[in-house]
Amino acid sequence: MIYRLQRIVQEVDHAADIDAALIVLAEGLIRDLDIGVCSIYLVREDDPQVLVLKASSGLNPAVVGKVELRFGQGIVGTVAERSEAMNILNAPEHEKFELVPESGETEFPIFLGVPIITHGDVLGVIAVQRAVNAFTEDEEAYLTTLAAQLAASIERVESQSQLVKETATHVLRGVAGAPGMSIGEAVVLNRGVDLVSVPDRICSNIDADLAAFREAVGMVCDELTEQAEKMRISLSEEEAALFVAYAQMLSGGSLIEDTEKRILAGNWAQSSWSDTVEEHAYVFEQMEDRYLAERANDIRDLGLRVLRKLIAGQIQVPEFPKNGILVGDEVSAIDLADVPLDRLVGIVSAHGSSSSHVAILAHALGIPAVMGVPGLPLKQLDGIKLIVDGFGGLAFANPDRRILDEYEKYIDEEAAIDQDLLELKNLPAATVDKHPVRLLVNTGLMTDYTPSLHSGAEGVGLYRTEIPFQMRDRFPTEEEQYEIYRGVLTAFEGMPVVLRTLDVGGDKPLTYFPINEANPFLGWRGIRVTLDHPEIFITQVRAMIRANVGINNLDILLPMISGRDDFEASLDLITRAHREIEEELGTKIPLPRIGAMIEVPSAIYQIEDICALAEFVSIGTNDLTQYLLAVDRNNENVADLYSSLHPAMLKAMCQIVQGVSRSRTPLSVCGELAGDPLGIMALLGMGIDTLSMSVGSLLRAKKVIVSFSMSELGDLLDQAIRLPSAGAVLEFYAGKLEERGLGGLIRAGG
Ligand code: PEP
Ligand code: MG
Repeated sequence: MIYRLQRIVQEVDHAADIDAALIVLAEGLIRDLDIGVCSIYLVREDDPQVLVLKASSGLNPAVVGKVELRFGQGIVGTVAERSEAMNILNAPEHEKFELVPESGETEFPIFLGVPIITHGDVLGVIAVQRAVNAFTEDEEAYLTTLAAQLAASIERVESQSQLVKETATHVLRGVAGAPGMSIGEAVVLNRGVDLVSVPDRICSNIDADLAAFREAVGMVCDELTEQAEKMRISLSEEEAALFVAYAQMLSGGSLIEDTEKRILAGNWAQSSWSDTVEEHAYVFEQMEDRYLAERANDIRDLGLRVLRKLIAGQIQVPEFPKNGILVGDEVSAIDLADVPLDRLVGIVSAHGSSSSHVAILAHALGIPAVMGVPGLPLKQLDGIKLIVDGFGGLAFANPDRRILDEYEKYIDEEAAIDQDLLELKNLPAATVDKHPVRLLVNTGLMTDYTPSLHSGAEGVGLYRTEIPFQMRDRFPTEEEQYEIYRGVLTAFEGMPVVLRTLDVGGDKPLTYFPINEANPFLGWRGIRVTLDHPEIFITQVRAMIRANVGINNLDILLPMISGRDDFEASLDLITRAHREIEEELGTKIPLPRIGAMIEVPSAIYQIEDICALAEFVSIGTNDLTQYLLAVDRNNENVADLYSSLHPAMLKAMCQIVQGVSRSRTPLSVCGELAGDPLGIMALLGMGIDTLSMSVGSLLRAKKVIVSFSMSELGDLLDQAIRLPSAGAVLEFYAGKLEERGLGGLIRAGG
């Protein structure tokens, strides 16, 4: 059973387009189940309450594409409306039955229909019919399992087969990543480690591509022959022969010939090769014989080896265009280091959400980002015109004139709002009732600090030191770190600078220090890693303390503190490093203030213990939300559930405020909530008046601050905290902002 199921799923996955995929599915079910008819309905793109018969095996082909049913209409429409399977012995007698004229379906009265659902949305219905024998529970379970497994594939193939044509706007729906809107040219990230995401590109020099391809194949062939020789020593003749067979596959034959044909037809070498490899691998995959089917993996393995060589000797490294938009399956923070930031105007990623680190960085850089776009048609997007709407979580490929005009207008309106906000730049950040609010910036990028220095910020509230660590291929030395920290401490001389110690693990990998865990966010992360590696921690802290000599504006912040123990252990190491430096210098130097991030729920319940040691605490709302709500901050499947304004978060933060008040420990917030206009309303309502945010959020934050009084926001918080859901809190605060005429601060132009 499972083998049959996997085979159908694979066939659908490899179909050239959605029509082919549905035919494959209908025919596969006719083959595997004893049925006379299989029909597949999908919802209409322009009206998701209407189902269209998209494919059928067994019904009169003339009705395919013509039959339409509203949700609730007929038995199929009822399956969609109820979102549940219907197993009926005599369909024509069912109260919901509606005959599809000229379909021939009355010959098959026994009916089983299951909905195809993804992320709670009904995509369509699979209906099977036969003349005799009721559908068994096993058959119903099989079809339900298949529909559940296929839903994501159908959604993806459907989205990818709506070709991004020059004549039609193609909408890409994801989640809002980083605010802002932009128009530019898509540049598909091509790491080349994955055969299926090599973008289609026209080849600008066929001879050069052919030569590069032959050279890459030749290199892999030589390597394989060499490996076969070496293997003869440790492997049996038969096993070593495998390498010879690999080499032979590259010495001519259809893999090579088909690729060369594609190159000669004008496709660049990388996609010519990857498409040919996929085509051949698929033929093997379809074979009934398990041994032969497994050979598909060998072909892909071979495919990757050649592709890597092709990329290493890449003959076409297209220049990153002006107004380039980085598009990829999983755009990461490190990818940003590889592109000229002055040319980058947007990011679109198939995976991730607003709290992924790349989105946070994009926010810091003022670059709009759309994350978590299922079925992003990567192969077709390279070089295409894109609009990125980082407010609405939408992108438009090949936008038509009307949409372009609309977005050009929105972008102008946004610029006008920013222009108006400039008048606030030199005004103090204080509420209507004159309560001063300290605004700080989050940074960590090695860009110049000028925008932050001229933003009116009063210092750095969070410097993410992992970023310079991520941009290297080994741990930076103490001296290299010293230079980086000295740079930021000097730039902000006279203002506090909070340097956070290394926070790797989770979704912040270091290529040169791999951490492979099943559950990385709950694993070896932040302070847990550095306490286990005091040599890394002490080097970093020494660099920080040395960089502070003579400037004295350093605060050290410890990430992922879960209780008093790890804070105490860190404190011991920091005081040791401090003592060492004093001995080396032969003079006394001040010990920096040491604080704790409050981002792990256990720290809320130990806040008083932590405050007995910590000189300040800062709430990391990004992680606190993820851990408190049990919602992975990077997972687009649950992005809707991730909200730092959830009533549970409001209550948790109030508890932190209460916990720190007894010891009067200074408290700030440095997660993304601190830069969000609605978040600021809630945080000020709690009495939190030190906020650290991306520099791009500062003026909007100030606008909110100067528009409300602390007491008013306190009253609003009392009401918000009693609301039942994150959505209700969001709506509540958004309504209050609208009433004040400030809706434009949180919304795109329309
Ligand atoms: C946080 O978790 O809120 C935070 C500021 O840290 P990071 O986003 O770097 O994990
Ligand atoms: Mg964090």
